[in-house]
Amino acid sequence: MTNNRESFQQQKIAALEKECLHLHKELAELKAQQIQQKKKDALNRRLLKQTNEKLFQCHQLSQQENLSKSDFLANMSHEIRTPLNIILGMANLLAETELDKTQMQYLSSLRVTGRQLMEILNNILEFSRIDAGKITVEPEPFSLHKIIHQIEASALPLCLQKKLTFLVEHDPLLVMERIGDPLKIFQILLNLINNAVKFTQAGSITFAIKEDFTVKSGLILSVIDTGIGITEDKQKIIFDRFTQVNDSLSQQQGGAGLGLAISQKLTNAMGGELIVKSTFGKGSIFSCRLPLPPAAPSERGRLRLDASFILPENFPGLKILAVDDVRENIEIIKMYLKDYPVHIQAAENGEAALKYFATDVFDLILMDVRMPGMDGITATQEIRNREKPGACAPQIILAVTAHAFQEQKNKFLQAGFDGVLTKPFFKRELIQTLFKFSTRNRLMPSPEKMGNKAIGYCLENETPEKIPESFRDMLPDLLQTISGDLILMKSFLHSKDYESIYVTAHSLKGVAGMFGFQKLASLITDLSQTVKARDFIVVDELFAVLDTYIIQLKIQFS
Ligand code: ADP
Repeated sequence: MTNNRESFQQQKIAALEKECLHLHKELAELKAQQIQQKKKDALNRRLLKQTNEKLFQCHQLSQQENLSKSDFLANMSHEIRTPLNIILGMANLLAETELDKTQMQYLSSLRVTGRQLMEILNNILEFSRIDAGKITVEPEPFSLHKIIHQIEASALPLCLQKKLTFLVEHDPLLVMERIGDPLKIFQILLNLINNAVKFTQAGSITFAIKEDFTVKSGLILSVIDTGIGITEDKQKIIFDRFTQVNDSLSQQQGGAGLGLAISQKLTNAMGGELIVKSTFGKGSIFSCRLPLPPAAPSERGRLRLDASFILPENFPGLKILAVDDVRENIEIIKMYLKDYPVHIQAAENGEAALKYFATDVFDLILMDVRMPGMDGITATQEIRNREKPGACAPQIILAVTAHAFQEQKNKFLQAGFDGVLTKPFFKRELIQTLFKFSTRNRLMPSPEKMGNKAIGYCLENETPEKIPESFRDMLPDLLQTISGDLILMKSFLHSKDYESIYVTAHSLKGVAGMFGFQKLASLITDLSQTVKARDFIVVDELFAVLDTYIIQLKIQFS
């Protein structure tokens, strides 16, 4: 019995030992597999890393190629623009001379095609900038009312020329204060409007805004025309670069088939899409669908205000210190504010401003940035140093400058300014800015009470011909000053004192812009840039064009 039990136990032990041996073997196999697997994993990781590196290199390479292609395009168009500028400048000068009828016709087509060529080059430049990824979307709260005003101002004269009706349509309950990039939106819409006018011979152009219920916070901004329309197969290709479909008419109208490609890229960059619906022979609808969330309710009052006009009776009494070395600039500010309850003390530079600041109290200081002697930034920093912290409300100081880029604006804010007023500014902007900053610490009346009656009443759209009488009186003096400055700049050029040319051009541009002489202002900017590029042939041309232009203005306003 005992023997039996023992042999049974021995058998069991033997079976267990066998199983143990088997398990050991299995464990060893598993370990071997694990080691194998680890090796495979390491190999895979290495391969993945290598593939990623290769992919990254390919991506870099294609980006580089794209960049050099865009750079090439940008350089080429820039190179062509310079001689073309001369050709156009010469043509302008030629137009000032005695010409018979045939010569005038030849010259006219030379100027028209020259300008078309310039537009094409500008578009190529713009496209290559976008293609090289050099555009950034800058969303900010803005008012659709402002966009409508700008579009109206651009479209109405064009439609008038072709006897087309221009209409604006939107739901009256639509929230007009939105967040988006207003400059890019305007650029796209202007492009669509220009096309609509180009390809419509009779009927109407409509700018319509409505909600896009298919997406959250979306809007559809459409330009609708009753023009020649586009066939279905052509609709598929018109957004490709360098594509024109109504060949003979398109060529007749100029352009390079880049406008829609640019508009589409801009729309996509803002997270939207640009689509077309068209019936050949009947007309087209170009719709820009964009995510444009409504601005925060707290922002809306301010934006509504931006799009309206503040009447003198709603304006607070203010004592302002206006600091500017160019006397005309202060005269213009006075002119703009003459009906408003405002007292202005003028100072010609930073030092004079500091003297007034020490002895008087001002609600607000308008400080030019660039001035001989003490400049605006130094003066502002000095005022900030003199202010006792916490003693009273800090002085409100606004920088007045022609430097419009956001980075530069941020620089001014960091330097101690409360805000920036960009030159050239118009009556509406000046009044709104003063109002905004002077009421910063007060209760804002509701925009409804501000009275929107006067929307549009401002000097913004005025051509020099429409300048009010009171302004006209100042013109002969102003033109004389400009002539004098031009002579001065020529002598600076002669003595290679380029820095003085930039300084004079800078203040001259400000004055010209303030008076609404946009052409003059842009010619002066060109001059300054061409001097910077040391392109003296063009500089001479520009001086000649400027001289002629000033003579024209003198005759016009004598
Ligand atoms: P372009 O600057 O040459 O006008 P676009 O890219 O703006 O180039 O337009 C491409 C082509 O699409 C135009 O040449 C024209 O043939 C067609 N097109 C654009 N808009 C319209 C429109 N509103 N009606 C008819 N055709 C249009």
